[in-house]
Amino acid sequence: MENQDFTRIAAHMLIVVGPSGTGKSTLLFHLLSQRASCVFSRSTTTRAPRGREKNGVEYDFVDVDTFKAKIDAGEFAEYASVFGNYYGTPHRMIRNNVEAGLDVVFDIDVQGARQLKTTYPGAWCLLIAPPSMEILEQRLRARATDAPDVIERRLNTARSELAQTDLFDFTIINDDLHTAQNLIVTLYDAMTLRAQR
Ligand code: 5GP
Repeated sequence: MENQDFTRIAAHMLIVVGPSGTGKSTLLFHLLSQRASCVFSRSTTTRAPRGREKNGVEYDFVDVDTFKAKIDAGEFAEYASVFGNYYGTPHRMIRNNVEAGLDVVFDIDVQGARQLKTTYPGAWCLLIAPPSMEILEQRLRARATDAPDVIERRLNTARSELAQTDLFDFTIINDDLHTAQNLIVTLYDAMTLRAQR
């Protein structure tokens, strides 16, 4: 692809990062339900499907050998190992969606966000932040889904993610859910006004 293609495609990319417990999934779900012109970026992963997840819906589920072959073939715009499994974003998925007139919203970790910004420097990166580390800790404990050591690990990951301030173009502090929902839609609407598109 030519450089100008990367610039044009980047203007259709909203990368959303944030520690677990910040309400990132709820906000993404809200945005996707409010704006039919945006689509969720479907990643490829080596982790096993959970619950009702289906291949080709939440993720493309593949085995490790297949994933490695895709790395070697240069199919990924970014990939990372997260909690022991590989996750990657195919270039082709991004391109196909943008060619179809859609904007692509990514839910990936900070390592992946950094790589995507290297390939597509014009993509916007939004951080969903908790009001404070104390509140994040309270929220994780209140969910009661994780063991104490897992909560501790999530909090450490959160601290290192939130510290990567050079990566984020925008921050939404998810204090009041309704306000945060309005803000993510407003940010998306602003993205659709970008000049390069
Ligand atoms: P889960 O297994 O719970 O669906 O996702 C675990 C983590 O992997 C989440 O933090 C999610 O943001 C991240 N993730 C999902 N897809 C990708 C991807 O394609 N690339 C990267 N780098 N991270 C991803």
